[in-house]
Amino acid sequence: MDFSLPYTNEQETFRKEVRSWLAENVPSDLKDPVDPRDFTIELNERWREVHKELGKKGWLYPTFPKEYGGGGLTGDHETIITEEMNRAGVPENFTSGNTLPPMQVWGSDEQKQKFLKPIVTGEKTVWNKLTEPNGGADLANVQGTAVKDGDEWVLNGEHVYVSGRGKPGFLLGPMKTDPDAPRHRNLGYFIIPVPDWNPDTGSTGLDGLSIYEMNLINGHDQHNIVLNDVRIPGDNLFGGETQGWQVAGTTMESEHGGRGKAFPIDTPVENLVEHLGDENSDGTTVGSDPVLQQSAMTAVMESHVQNVLLRRVFWMYQNKHEISWHSGVANVHGRESSLRIESRVREVYGPHALLNSHDPDAPHGGQHEVNARNRAGQNHAGGSTNIGKVVLARRIGISRTIERPAPTPSTASA
Ligand SMILES: Cc1cc2nc3c(=O)[nH]c(=O)nc-3n(C[C@H](O)[C@H](O)[C@H](O)COP(=O)(O)OP(=O)(O)OC[C@H]3O[C@@H](n4cnc5c(N)ncnc54)[C@H](O)[C@@H]3O)c2cc1C
Repeated sequence: MDFSLPYTNEQETFRKEVRSWLAENVPSDLKDPVDPRDFTIELNERWREVHKELGKKGWLYPTFPKEYGGGGLTGDHETIITEEMNRAGVPENFTSGNTLPPMQVWGSDEQKQKFLKPIVTGEKTVWNKLTEPNGGADLANVQGTAVKDGDEWVLNGEHVYVSGRGKPGFLLGPMKTDPDAPRHRNLGYFIIPVPDWNPDTGSTGLDGLSIYEMNLINGHDQHNIVLNDVRIPGDNLFGGETQGWQVAGTTMESEHGGRGKAFPIDTPVENLVEHLGDENSDGTTVGSDPVLQQSAMTAVMESHVQNVLLRRVFWMYQNKHEISWHSGVANVHGRESSLRIESRVREVYGPHALLNSHDPDAPHGGQHEVNARNRAGQNHAGGSTNIGKVVLARRIGISRTIERPAPTPSTASA
């Protein structure tokens, strides 16, 4: 019995169009480095130009409405575009994905034209500014303040671990607007323009706003952000003045896996399988060793389960289903299984797996070493694995608190 779901002729024609466009428009010398620490501002500028061209075609955000710069296409089109971009080694846009849903759900038409459209077309990027130095897991406990002064807001506070590649065009996140109101009713959700960040000095071109690099072990760019009497226009607020916690709910829905993935790839496991076919000096293959075979197949199964979980959530999202515990299962399983997979990789390769990308003997150009560092950090990104389990328990109904999903662009427009 054949369970495969073949693409239609129309979809295969679209695939050819995407593939040939990428071949013609992505310079052949432009590559994403294996180690994010080797990503430079110059590379950022060059990729951003490619992203802008993709934006003009509507392929940077294929399913977003055309009126806000998207492609107005289907989830199937997005799957094909993602497959082809992965095949060609083209990185996705450099905006933190979880920043767009709150703008889509809570933004007025005017705000969407002003802030969302330049992001969807690739002109600007936006970073998720949530975590403060005294704690990130309890997001409702934001201490940074926003005070109204005439037609403007005056912002003060500090943030850490804010992820982003290259230079941001905007920062987005909650700040306390009413210090006397109870928890969950005291926040507003603000967008802050970053005219021109200089990574060497921290200056941003906006008075009082500074951004400094934090180089963590994973090598992904995380940042420390300081707001010292920063003034922004009154309409840079999504939702009402004290509705920030509800807006944050939409962000969290996305951050905790709420959109799934059209085409999940698992490069470490693909590399591992390839390695099993390599020949040993005695002519046998690596994969013929029964012990290594057991380890590797455990990794393959874990990866496959994660792939199915992510695709299910993507399908639910595209079909406007309310996604409850399903995204939580994918979120927590992904975090934990990827760490287990890294252990299996080290069992198969031995210490060799930890040679870095600058070592000519590093397997797969150093991918495993980068991934080992990255996976550890990812268990804290997005509110940590512990918090992922807290959310999951609430959704399944075994916690003291029962939680319903916040609106997402999919369910809000259903
Ligand atoms: C690689 C990386 C990327 C990141 N990117 C961003 C970003 O783009 N934007 C941004 O704003 N932040 C970002 N963060 C920060 C991240 O969201 C926080 O690290 C996370 O929310 C946890 O906050 P914390 O580190 O302050 O830990 P704390 O809040 O101090 O928590 C400490 C520990 O206690 C656990 N814990 C806390 N409360 C509970 C509870 N109720 N039940 C069970 N366990 C609990 C936590 O899981 C954690 O292990 C990033 C972090 C990393 C490592």
